[in-house]
This record gives sequence, C-alpha cells and structure tokens, in this order.
Amino acid sequence: MDIRTLKGIGDKTAILFNKLDIYTVRDLINYYPRAYESYEAPMLIADCNEEKIITVKGRVFGKPRLAVVGRYKILSVTVQDSEGECIRLTWFNMPFLMSKLQEGSVFYFRGKMSYKGKDKVIEQPEIFTESQYKEKINQLQPVYGLTKGLSNKTLVKAVKGALKEIVPTYDYLPEGVRKKYNLTDYNTAIQEIHFPSDSEQKMNARKRLVFDEFFKFINVLSSFKEKNQYCENDFIIKRDSIIDTIIKELPFELTDAQKKVLDEIESDMSGEKCMNRLVQGDVGSGKTIVAVLAMFNTAMAGYQAAIMAPTEVLANQHYEYISGLVEKYNLPFRVSLLTGSMTAKNKRKEYERIEIGLSRIIIGTHALIQEAVSYDCLALVITDEQHRFGVRQREQLSNKGRNPHILVMSATPIPRTLAIILYGDLDISVMNQMPSERLPIKNCVVGTDYRPNAYRFIEKEVKSGHQAYVICPMVEESENIEAENVIDYCEKLKKELSQDINVEYLHGKMKPALKNQIMEDFASKKIDVLVSTTVIEVGINVPNATVMMIEDAGRFGLAALHQLRGRVGRGAAQSYCIFINTSKNKETQKRLEILNKSNDGFYIASEDMKMRGPGDFFGIRQSGDMGFNIADIYLDYEILKQASDAIQLLNKKMIEISELEESVLKEETAGWIEQASNKINL
Ligand code: ADP
Ligand code: MG
Repeated sequence: MDIRTLKGIGDKTAILFNKLDIYTVRDLINYYPRAYESYEAPMLIADCNEEKIITVKGRVFGKPRLAVVGRYKILSVTVQDSEGECIRLTWFNMPFLMSKLQEGSVFYFRGKMSYKGKDKVIEQPEIFTESQYKEKINQLQPVYGLTKGLSNKTLVKAVKGALKEIVPTYDYLPEGVRKKYNLTDYNTAIQEIHFPSDSEQKMNARKRLVFDEFFKFINVLSSFKEKNQYCENDFIIKRDSIIDTIIKELPFELTDAQKKVLDEIESDMSGEKCMNRLVQGDVGSGKTIVAVLAMFNTAMAGYQAAIMAPTEVLANQHYEYISGLVEKYNLPFRVSLLTGSMTAKNKRKEYERIEIGLSRIIIGTHALIQEAVSYDCLALVITDEQHRFGVRQREQLSNKGRNPHILVMSATPIPRTLAIILYGDLDISVMNQMPSERLPIKNCVVGTDYRPNAYRFIEKEVKSGHQAYVICPMVEESENIEAENVIDYCEKLKKELSQDINVEYLHGKMKPALKNQIMEDFASKKIDVLVSTTVIEVGINVPNATVMMIEDAGRFGLAALHQLRGRVGRGAAQSYCIFINTSKNKETQKRLEILNKSNDGFYIASEDMKMRGPGDFFGIRQSGDMGFNIADIYLDYEILKQASDAIQLLNKKMIEISELEESVLKEETAGWIEQASNKINL
C-alpha cells in the first residue's frame, strides 16, 4: 500500500517520505522513532529565565487580538498563570484560533519561550486541554529522524494513520514461540514502539521487534544455506604454477594468516563441494592479494572470476592493481572493468568481451549484476567489503554463473560465535594477523585548538615524502552542504599549509570520473593532502599515506572511525591518526579513548559493546551496516541466540505449532526471502 493512500499525504509530501526511504504504509510503521521525549509538568512563568521549550498552564486574559500585517495575520493573546504572572502568546496565520481562546478559558500552552525586549513571549505554542496534556505527561512521545520539510508532527500523524490501516494483523510468530521467549504480540509491539504507554512497554516492544529482525534474518540465511549445502563443485580448480612465481616476487612475504586462508580457498576450490567462504580480516590485513590469487587460479584454468566492490573508486583501484599484475606476468587473458559511470558504448564493448570469454577477470561495482551482462563461464564470484552489500546482491552475482565458487570478504569485526549465526551459510576464514613490517598506528585525541599543530605535523610528513587524509568536519547534517563544506575546508587548508603542498578535495557528489581521477592522482602522489568526506571509508589503499586527521571525530561510530583510520598504516612507515574532538560529552570522549588505546578491530568492537547501555539503542549502530533497523548484534546478542534457538526448535518440531501457524510462517518466510533480502546485509 502506497503511503499516498494515507490521509494528508499527497504527492508532494510523499516525495519527502521517499527521502527517508519510506514508500509504503508498511515502510512507515517500520520507521521506528529515533528517540522519545516526554512532556514535563507545566512551569510557572516567573521560574522560566532562559529561552527554551516550556509548558505554561494559564487562563486567557482579555480578548485575543488579530492584527493584519501585509499578508500575515498575527493573533496574540495574554495568558496568566496561577501566580498572576502574565506571558504573551502569538500565532501566525491561524486566525481560527480566535474562537477557541475564549476569555477566561484555561489551557496548557507549549512552545519555546523567548524574550522580546524584557517581555517573555511564546510564538506558535501548541494548545492542549487539561486532559489532553495530562495524558501526554505520562506518555513517551516519539521523535523521528526527519528530513527538510517534514516535521515530527506530520510523521506522528502519518504513523498514527498507518497503524490504523495495518493493525491488527495476524501475528506470523507462532504462539508457542512467543510464550517460550516471553514476547509481546506483534500488534501491541508495533503500537508501543511508536507510542509507548511507559518505558517498560517500550522495552518489551523493542525486544519483540529485535527478535523479529533476527528471526527473519536467520530464516533468510538458512534458505541460502540449504541451497549451498548440496552444491557440487562443477569447477575444479587447482593451484596454477604462476601463483608460486607471483608470491615469490611480491614486494612482501605473505603472512601466515594469508597463507592459511589461501590454502583454505584452494582446497575448497579443488574439492568436491563448491566454495562458500567468508574471509574476515581487520582493515589492512591484506585480503586483496589473497582474493587476487584465487582469481588468477580461476582464470588460468580457463574460467572467469568476478569481484564486486561497493564503490567505483575501489573497483577502479582493484582494476589498476590486477591489470598491472596481468601485464607484468603476461597472463593469457584480459581484465574487464564494469562500472555505472561508463559510457554505454564502452560497456557494450566489455559485455562482448565478457560474453565470449575473452575477459576472464571482471571487476566492477553493482554494474556486474546488471541484466545486460552475461558471462561465458563464471566460476568464482567475490564480494569485497561484503557488509556494504545485500545478501540478495551476492546471490544475484552468483546467479550470473552456474554454481560458481563464492568468496566473501569483510572487515566487520564480529566475534566468532556471532559470525556462525550471522553468516550461517558460509564457512569462515579468519585473517587474524597484520603484516609483520607494520608499525602500529600512533593515535591522539585532541581538541580543535590543536589544529595548527596538526597542520604543521602534516606539513612535516609531506616534506618527508608522505601523504595525508583530512576528513572534513560536518557543519550540518545535510548532503548538499557536504560538498560546500569540503570545498571550503580545502580552501582554508591550502592557505594554512605551505604553498608547494598540493591539496585537493573529494566528495560523494562529484562525477565518478573526476573522483577516480582524484584518487589516481592521490595514489600517484600528484596530490599530497586529500580533504574528503567518508567516501574514502572503505577499501582505499594508498600505502604512502601516513596521516589521517579526522575532524569532528565524535560524530562517527567506532566502526566507521576504525575503517577510516585503516586508510593509513598500510605501508612500512610509521602512521598517525589524529582524532579532533569537538564534543564535551563524556561518553564521546570515552569512545574516542578506546580508539586511542587500540588499533585492534575486535577489541574495539567488544569495548564498544560494553560501553553501550540498553538506553542508547537508537543511535548510530554498527549493525546498521548489516541492515538491521532496530536490532544490535552486540547488544542484543542474547535475543539473537534466542531467535536462532527458536528456529532450530521449530525445525525439529520441538515447539508446538498449529497447521495454520505453520502455513502463515511459511508464506511469510517466502516473502522475506523474496523481498527483504536485498535490504539485509552481511
Ligand atoms: P585489506 O585487508 O584492508 O583489504 P589490503 O589487501 O588492501 O588490505 O592490503 C593493505 C596493504 O598491505 C596493501 O598495500 C598490500 O599491498 C599490503 N600487504 C598485503 N599483504 C602484505 C604482507 N604480507 N606484507 C606487507 N604488506 C602487505
Ligand atoms: Mg580491502
């Protein structure tokens, strides 16, 4: 059901909702509040001495006045509280309130108090009757994530309308499961998550919805797992002798972890079943070369291998690296790059090469899974930075071949026990070792007054031949401003740094070709300092960069910060990460302190989990990466286990389930696999 079917939502408002990824009534009720706010008891006018949102209980004093100023109608009225103190209230273009505000009547008025000269006024206050307001006091009011032009009030109204449309629905979760794990029914939960009666109800609602997300997730996964279990290996691929040569001539020696993982991959690919493997390794542990070698084995055996990366910049980088090696060793096949920004003509040329099997290594973004691409004999598919993709996309890529080997690479640090549940359909290789030549990154967390020192330091590093990244501060949470922001900062930095240092900027809104150009120029050292947004967060590899300076570090989650920091410390030289903290918030300082102390992704993830109490579950979450709306894989680990447990017991028929329940659940699950899976990321 389209959201435009709701009262009050026309085409214009619908576009705003679309910006929040809300298209259907179902999307809307799944758009949970970001936080809750409760209305406080009314205060005396005399007690309010600062400009803030207050509620005043007052009697209308005298008649309201309506003034017409140009096109505006300004209604104003004075109200008096129980102590006899007065305050003036005004409303723009709401003349109809006139009749409501009868002299002598009592209301609760809520709005932001401000001073006009010495007088206190409230503009545009909301009006409540006593009973209306009393009800609000006991209730938690939802606060939704908004976009420009869409107010919380509009969202609240829309959600209320949506709940009326959708609730009650049949609860797909069998009663036996709900009883066993003490879960609220769906209708209550969805109502309470938006409009909680109290905080206990809110927590219960949340638990149920978290359970649902995990339950769906695991169900979708097990469908993949089933499919994969009986997959015979149609492409038996053994190590090619060229691999030994390449390894011998690499500028470094593979770590034991890399050797082990390569072994595992090779024995999968030459074994009886086809490979379904996740390689999990911290940023900078050297996953790329392992993937590349697996691709070379495939191509040398006469088959095709494809690797999908989440950004064009990263795809491009892989392309440069791989085609460099192919050229160097004069390997008997071509390499293709496929990205969204290529011209139709160029794309067609590549499609042809891929289709006739001339290209045996194909690198790209989502463009790899587009309909027009058909492969000759796709035997290995790899997704790099898998946490940025959906299960569905991974599947789409593998559907391009007939039972190809699957390799998934991720830097998301997840404890093994969790990984087994989350990546149920995959075997797991852990690359738990950094190249030995690496010096640990030196970190510091500092305030803005340290900036001049940081700039001098960057100058020094550049003078000694290295490069630096600066992640730009955020002025406003708006995408459009982002570009301006980066450009301004870059200008400022050019003035701060010595003339001969080449500073450039990069942001998400730039044309892909320009982005690639900038990245190439940075990689080839034509640019010394790159001012950027988080577009460089994943995968980018410029080992000569030794300084990462992150402005407003507090606004990022720990996982994102760890990824950003992972852009340095990729070569033999000492690297540095400067976190600029603008927040006075103790919590933020503590979080940054965790990064300051450690460079280990697993440690950071576990500390992060320890720090987060159940109270702040609506913030930016790492598991947001995995496509969960409300669930948190660390915080809600117990619920995750329960959901996993429930599914196993259901499968073994150890939880009672009626015929009707069983068929509803089956149908739902089919629906999830069909629709939801492209939203769920691994
Ligand atoms: P990630 O695991 O984050 O994808 P990369 O594969 O991009 O990491 O590797 C990071 C950098 O480390 C690259 O410059 C790569 O050439 C280098 N590298 C990879 N393996 C080793 C190794 N065994 N010793 C030294 N450097 C290595
Ligand atoms: Mg990588």
